[in-house]
Amino acid sequence: MITKKQVEAFGSIETPFYFYDMDLLRQTLDLYTEQIGKYGYNAHYAMKANANDRILETIKGYGLGADCVSGNEVKLAVKAGFDPGKIVYAGVGKSDKEIRAALRAGIFSFNCESVPEIRIINDLAGAMGRKARISIRVNPDIDAHTHKYISTGLKENKFGISPWAFQDVKDLLSQCPHVELIGLHFHIGSQITEMPVFALMCRRIEELQQWFIEHDVPIANLNLGGGLGINYQDPAGDPVAHFEEYFDIIHRNLVVRPGQQVHFEPGRALVGQCGHLISRVLYVKVGREKKFAILDAGMNDLIRPALYQAWHDIVNLSSTGRKLRYDVVGPVCESSDCWGMKRLVNTCRRGDLMDIRSAGAYGQVMAMRYNQRDLAKAVYSDDLK
Ligand SMILES: *Cc1c(COP(=O)(O)O)cnc(C)c1O
Repeated sequence: MITKKQVEAFGSIETPFYFYDMDLLRQTLDLYTEQIGKYGYNAHYAMKANANDRILETIKGYGLGADCVSGNEVKLAVKAGFDPGKIVYAGVGKSDKEIRAALRAGIFSFNCESVPEIRIINDLAGAMGRKARISIRVNPDIDAHTHKYISTGLKENKFGISPWAFQDVKDLLSQCPHVELIGLHFHIGSQITEMPVFALMCRRIEELQQWFIEHDVPIANLNLGGGLGINYQDPAGDPVAHFEEYFDIIHRNLVVRPGQQVHFEPGRALVGQCGHLISRVLYVKVGREKKFAILDAGMNDLIRPALYQAWHDIVNLSSTGRKLRYDVVGPVCESSDCWGMKRLVNTCRRGDLMDIRSAGAYGQVMAMRYNQRDLAKAVYSDDLK
């Protein structure tokens, strides 16, 4: 929750800006690390969710590794001080340059998404006189009909290697002296709030693992990816992702063999709720049928609503007036630049501070300068005290 004192401090800051509640971030990380500690699991923060230096520094301070999806993310993770031995790197289209950068950094594992990628990593590693640790990102083909957000783990998705190609992988590995297979990797989608999906995933992992056991291929690491969702509808009442329930389900359903290490790649669940996009009402436009609250923050600052019709809670921080319905919109010249239709918000007036909540993940990292707009800056709660 944003405090009165913080709202006062916002008064002198140019809007729009991102505000990060670092106390909530630490509280979330406390609970997260307590849970992984309880089960002896390993975690790598999916830095594509938010790569701000202060956020990375805080997460690194809790001992997490980094999950990267580009060569530049690997470089940034190293620069930010993450242990290269705890960096994992996924992505369907790793370029030669990116692979070389990751080899140079000495990362823990390339999460490989195709058979030809494994061959290229082998060749590049050989040329550099190195050995690459790799994991197979498996496409588990988990039925999306159970939940519309499970969209990266279906066989029609571009991600991962399908089980029918396991034999090809095994044959290829016998010709690849510069790679070492260290594990299997799974990441089936994002913003998953239906916990049974994770139980299903664990059972599927065991099924898929059987193939490797039967073919005498040892699997030292199981990486279950990220995907745990947050509560966008009620960020104030439910500010921390349900880690206890999540890890309990995983623990009860995942078969872990002696000596095997289990890994996770949380993104949104760690940083989503600590971020707020703070803006001001520029105009209230009253039409015959509706009222528009026009804000100075737009889709270029936070693209999630325009990109995938994501829902964000909107609160007027300056008003206790009667709640009215507004179409809350941004200034950008696109009809999709809309924060929410018919939202019930305390009476808006020009200059009111508006809080677009749950904006910490896939927010500022995706900001752009469309319409030549300035990039919103980051403000951290620690600096306002
Ligand atoms: C994006 C991504 C994650 C993080 O997903 P969240 O839903 O933010 O937890 C983890 N692993 C991989 C491979 C990803 O691409």
